[in-house]
Amino acid sequence: SAKAAGKSQYARYTHDMHSAAQHRLELQSALAQALARNEFVVHYQPIYQLDGEQSTVYGVEALLRWRLNDQPVSPQEFIPALEETGDILPVGDWVLEQACRQVRAWQQTGQSHLSCSVNLSSRQLRQAGFAARVAAILQASGLEAQFLVLEITEGLLMEDSPELHHNLRALARLGVRLALDDFGTGYCSLGYLQRFPLHILKVDKSFVMGLPQDREQSAICRAIIGLGKSLGLQVIAEGVETEQHRQFLLDEGCQHAQGFWFARPCSSQDMQQLFNALDSCGLLAGHATPAVP
Ligand code: C2E
Ligand code: MG
Ligand code: MG
Ligand code: MG
Repeated sequence: SAKAAGKSQYARYTHDMHSAAQHRLELQSALAQALARNEFVVHYQPIYQLDGEQSTVYGVEALLRWRLNDQPVSPQEFIPALEETGDILPVGDWVLEQACRQVRAWQQTGQSHLSCSVNLSSRQLRQAGFAARVAAILQASGLEAQFLVLEITEGLLMEDSPELHHNLRALARLGVRLALDDFGTGYCSLGYLQRFPLHILKVDKSFVMGLPQDREQSAICRAIIGLGKSLGLQVIAEGVETEQHRQFLLDEGCQHAQGFWFARPCSSQDMQQLFNALDSCGLLAGHATPAVP
């Protein structure tokens, strides 16, 4: 009967709700110990300079990795869980320390102008004294502020927290650069681009995906590149997966790009091998580093 069907649907619904909540709790309790247990790893994805046919590595983006029961868990799942519990604060500091130290080491072994991009959660930026801690981490690692890029998202700029605004200004004064990640997917008004000390726009991969066939996506990419140029901001395209994507972006004057076509995010050891290969033959990009599951 309809009533019985409704009842079993309800039972399944509550069962799913229960297991989703349970899963989240398990995830969060495992995450609470993950830092102390050394379970986090920072991977790196190279960001290339699109100058003509020869591509050189301009910087790397640090991307956090974590495995549960020997299975990789997506950052889209565990980062929100860390944000909810507040564990993103110590974990975020740890990522910053690791990335700054690693990039400084790569600078000292030949990649002298390599930049270091690190993603931030809004909770980190709302924390009093965050900018001072970034300064201390830079000092301890020996990385100059100009080589650190902190990636934030649009929504954050609309938050009305005095600490956040203080931190953003203090970071800019330090000489750290700020990038607006996933640009075009949030709710930010263009006025914010002017009000905040931003340096870089990152074109979201959802707009790069359809290049050059999709007319709307092509128009959006062109507009973002043009906007960056007229505002004096650097533009980095993400999600470059094909030679057609790369060619379109190059033709439109986009200076930097990252994506699977160049290289997948990989361990620091694999990144080191990529640098060795680039150094030994001034290699043309377009070879993929080994995919890391
Ligand atoms: P994001 O900052 O926009 O990072 C780019 C994401 O796109 C990464 O996903 C990367 O692996 C993926 N990607 C790179 N090239 C391509 C491509 O050619 N095609 C496609 N389809 N994807 C590509 P990932 O590593 O899963 O990270 C997802 C998000 O998690 C990041 O997005 C970032 O918002 C967040 N995240 C990662 N690490 C951290 C961290 O240390 N702290 C914080 N707060 N967030 C992080
Ligand atoms: Mg990012
Ligand atoms: Mg992004
Ligand atoms: Mg993203």
